[in-house]
Amino acid sequence: MELFKVSTSEGRYPLVAVRDGIIFPYTEGVLIFGRKRSLEAIKKAFAGDKKIVLVMQKNPRKELPPKEDLYQVGVLATIKKIVSGERGELNVLLKGEKKIKTLIIESESPFFMAKIAYLEDETKIGKEVIAYVKHISNVMKEAISYGKTIDFTFLMNILNITDPESFSYQVAVVLDIRPFEKQKLLEEVNLEKRLRMEVEMIDKELNILKIEKNISRKTQEKFEKGMKQTFLREKMRTIEQELGKDKNGKEVGEYRERIKKAMMPKMVEKKALKELKRLSQMSQYNPEASYIRTYIDWLIELPWRKPPAKKIDINNSKAILNRDHYGLKKVKERILEFLAVIKLLETKKTKEGDKKGLVKLGKQPTILCFVGPPGVGKTSLGKSIARALGRKFVKISLGGIRDEAEIRGHRRTYVGALPGRIIQGIKEAGTNNPVFMLDEIDKVGRDYRGDPSAALLDALDPEQNATFSDHYLEVPFDLSQVFFITTANILDTIPAALLDRLEIIHFPGYTSEEKFNIAKKYLLKKQLLVHGLEGEGVKISDSALKMIIGRYTYEAGVRELERQIAAIFRKVARKLVEKKLEKKTIKLADLQPMLGPYKYSLPVIEEKDAIGIATGLAWTMAGGQILFIEVALMPGKGSLTLTGHLGEVMKESCQAALSYVRSRWKKFGLKEKFFEKINIHVHVPEGAVSKDGPSAGVSITTAMVSALTKRPVKREVAMTGEITLRGRVLPIGGVREKVIAAHRAKIKTVILPKENKKDLVEIPEKVKKDLHFIFVSHMDEVLSHALNH
Ligand code: ADP
Repeated sequence: MELFKVSTSEGRYPLVAVRDGIIFPYTEGVLIFGRKRSLEAIKKAFAGDKKIVLVMQKNPRKELPPKEDLYQVGVLATIKKIVSGERGELNVLLKGEKKIKTLIIESESPFFMAKIAYLEDETKIGKEVIAYVKHISNVMKEAISYGKTIDFTFLMNILNITDPESFSYQVAVVLDIRPFEKQKLLEEVNLEKRLRMEVEMIDKELNILKIEKNISRKTQEKFEKGMKQTFLREKMRTIEQELGKDKNGKEVGEYRERIKKAMMPKMVEKKALKELKRLSQMSQYNPEASYIRTYIDWLIELPWRKPPAKKIDINNSKAILNRDHYGLKKVKERILEFLAVIKLLETKKTKEGDKKGLVKLGKQPTILCFVGPPGVGKTSLGKSIARALGRKFVKISLGGIRDEAEIRGHRRTYVGALPGRIIQGIKEAGTNNPVFMLDEIDKVGRDYRGDPSAALLDALDPEQNATFSDHYLEVPFDLSQVFFITTANILDTIPAALLDRLEIIHFPGYTSEEKFNIAKKYLLKKQLLVHGLEGEGVKISDSALKMIIGRYTYEAGVRELERQIAAIFRKVARKLVEKKLEKKTIKLADLQPMLGPYKYSLPVIEEKDAIGIATGLAWTMAGGQILFIEVALMPGKGSLTLTGHLGEVMKESCQAALSYVRSRWKKFGLKEKFFEKINIHVHVPEGAVSKDGPSAGVSITTAMVSALTKRPVKREVAMTGEITLRGRVLPIGGVREKVIAAHRAKIKTVILPKENKKDLVEIPEKVKKDLHFIFVSHMDEVLSHALNH
């Protein structure tokens, strides 16, 4: 099918293949030719009528395109000017004349020679054509405003040309389209269609231009914003630096003042100023700055300066101790002796001027250690000592400490490092000579993080503690003026090196009478005050108080007692406020409604003398306790069964008891091999308290002998003591608590090891008067006193 309307006129012309440029009819443009074939063609044409056929090659990359590779439709152009280039190429100014179609390529060498026919456009100018032209020129203008670049002459042509056909070709030149699209425009012979194609193309171009502009605007905006921010930030930094310097300068100045006022030892002051210098050179935003501030604060706030030491007044101290505490006679005496020694050393120092430098004012020769169960007044006596000495009191608990750093602090290289508890306590006290209580020294552990007790030793050792080193502080602190008191529940777990430094003062548990008196004279008053009931006439009757002691508490101290009293007063206070308080004295009958049912049952001794049951005495953290030991015999093959939560040591006591009995079968009137036909069961009821320790030896043996010989044990006899396989009775601990427990349980006779006789001095007179003591050194004696014949 013939695609083109071919005019009749034909001609033969040299032809050049053009890679990508088209010189449309009615347009002029410069093409650069370099290929030999092209140069030959141009020369030939230029030598003749200057007419040459331009056709595009389909693949612009081909250096020597064969004729099949050329588009058929091209342009006949006139060569207007040729300028040779430096490398032999020719810059040729061409004017498009007519659209053509190559009919046949007659020769290819040395250049293409083509026979062509002219193509005529359909140029009917309808409304559409006019509208398209208008649209295109408008869009073109807009495109220019969006940054389209157009050669000025073309623009002028486009805007001035009134002929739509010429217009269409001018536009084709300036459209930003690909070569094949240009070819399509060229091949389109219908003017209206061509214009429509151009409309689409220019619209698309405008859109792209708009998008590009938008993108570039955004990029620009972004860029500008970024620039602005960078600029502002930079500016802010400068401002902050300027302001910061001022702030910093002010801060440094303030610190310097405070350091001066802190009256630190020279060396410490030097250290503080050095740190301050580091701080001043540091940016405000350096996180380390805050660590340095904290550190300097610590140095400033520690009490470096020695407050004037008050002279110890023994009489006044005695009065204070007595005023604050009931009983504790022996403890108070020991403390007063201790204070007297300090006072003597002090006086000596003042007189002789401490030539040897050994005695320091107020320095304690040894460290006190208060040992006893909870609630017996260790802490409150420590406070009294502080009052007596006119010093501040601080207490830190060492319970559960396993890390040396807890005592001596973490090095400052740790994030969040702080001084250890000793230095913290000193800061809390605000003076460097407080009475410093180290609570629960028996509960200091040790593990891979170091041995806290070693650090404690450094703090407590009077020879060393003038230069106590805390890892955090890095400068020594003088602890030599501190009056240390340690407390412990038991001595066994205190490391020997530490124990060596301690002057042990035992706080025995209280008897019921003592508790009653403490409550009457101290606890009631204290709790009335605490609950705002002072002067309201509220009382607890004596019998009620005794009942609280006996049935609502079970302890060596008075802590629980104090709590129960507090519980009563809380309820009273509420009733008083609600105006529901009917009577002001709390009587026996009021206890159960207020405190609930009794919490402890009284240990009741057997009604009658019984076979196989002996009363032992045990010591627990909560004080003394009576303990029933039951032995039952069954037919069997000689096994020994033990029940009732017995500890290892107590189990061994049972074995020892059995061995003792077996070795004495004759004396007890038993058959030689009695053991082979029976099983023995030892049971210790009331299992809540774990029972251990060797002191039940005598009572187990007594119960066993009683069961085997069928001789009943005297019900009001209680006993304690360790036995050997041969029946020797060895001394035991906790005599005071045990005896008090026996007394409380209405026991009449207590059998004790002979070597414990000395401990009787600790027992309150009233208890001593009520009880009959038998001291023994052998099991035979125990049996003769404990068993009925
Ligand atoms: P601890 O330190 O031994 O555990 P606390 O010192 O905390 O015991 O004593 C518990 C409570 O009992 C305190 O309120 C204390 O004042 C009081 N207390 C203990 N013993 C006596 C006493 N002998 N005289 C007066 N109050 C006492």
